[in-house]
Amino acid sequence: MNYRYSRQILFKDIAEAGQEKLQKAKVAIIGCGALGSHIAETLVRAGVGTIYLADRDYVESSNLQRQQLFTEQDAIDMKPKVIAATKRLLDIRSDVTIYTYFQHVDNALIEKLAKEVDLIMDGTDNFETRLLMNDAAYKYNIPWIYGACVGSSGVVFPFIPKQTPCFRCLLPALPSLNESCDTVGIISPAVHITASIQCAEALKILTGNIDAVRKKVHHFDCWNNAQMDVGVSKIRKEDCLTCSVQAIYPELQSSENSRFAVLCGRDAVQILPSKRRKLSLDEAELVAKKINATWKKTTYFEVIFKESYKIIVFQDGRMILHGLQDINQGRKLYTELFG
Ligand SMILES: [Zn+2]
Repeated sequence: MNYRYSRQILFKDIAEAGQEKLQKAKVAIIGCGALGSHIAETLVRAGVGTIYLADRDYVESSNLQRQQLFTEQDAIDMKPKVIAATKRLLDIRSDVTIYTYFQHVDNALIEKLAKEVDLIMDGTDNFETRLLMNDAAYKYNIPWIYGACVGSSGVVFPFIPKQTPCFRCLLPALPSLNESCDTVGIISPAVHITASIQCAEALKILTGNIDAVRKKVHHFDCWNNAQMDVGVSKIRKEDCLTCSVQAIYPELQSSENSRFAVLCGRDAVQILPSKRRKLSLDEAELVAKKINATWKKTTYFEVIFKESYKIIVFQDGRMILHGLQDINQGRKLYTELFG
């Protein structure tokens, strides 16, 4: 028996055969913040062979309260989350294969990952990316495990093509996500419970224990001591664009995702590079000099500080404008600075 995994192998529903399946498994983790970093650590420790980590963000000190893979130095260095996470994960287990994607998760990336992996784990914080994951998972017939948390509560559901209704079908039945952890806060136990339940479902799926997979949407509130499981099998929509015979996977079809997006609750607007014009880090530096701004260059991006704004330009031309709350302000500032 492999000593490292001996306690997991003793667990009869996993055993040697399940452990071998985990070693061969390929899992994409979309988002590497609170949920994603917990999920990544749990699956790496469990022996999953290959992990694909995708996240567009860098580590900030406000992440450290709940995002368990990151350190103070990562926040000081503003390290991309996928880079900081990978270093820590390889310290935990040196024989895991990890592919990182430090970028906005768009339809091209999600489709590429869905073709390669056995399972997609939701570590995101927004509906748009979940709709993308949902379309890709149902198109390529692989499960994805939804997880969301805010305050002291969380929701988990494993979406399994051909067995469960999809995320698009369930949207009206899921709790409102108008609140975000940036506006109402979050306690780390809510994150860890959500991610742990997602990982339990992942272990069941990856080891072939499909009958054990939960069939109801699980809600909990660990502060107010409440939990409930809601049956959703009858919620499937006959004309669903993702999981019915009329499926067209609309999220995967858009030729170019919207270039400007508000990053929920973060006082920031993200701008994706246009195909016609992709700003380089050198150009960003020239702009910073021209407007008499201060700037800081890291291996992965350049930060420009101007008045109350902080502008981050990434190597791929993507940009995050901090200090703004709506897209029009973002467009205006972008045009003023970069033409
Ligand atoms: Zn559906």
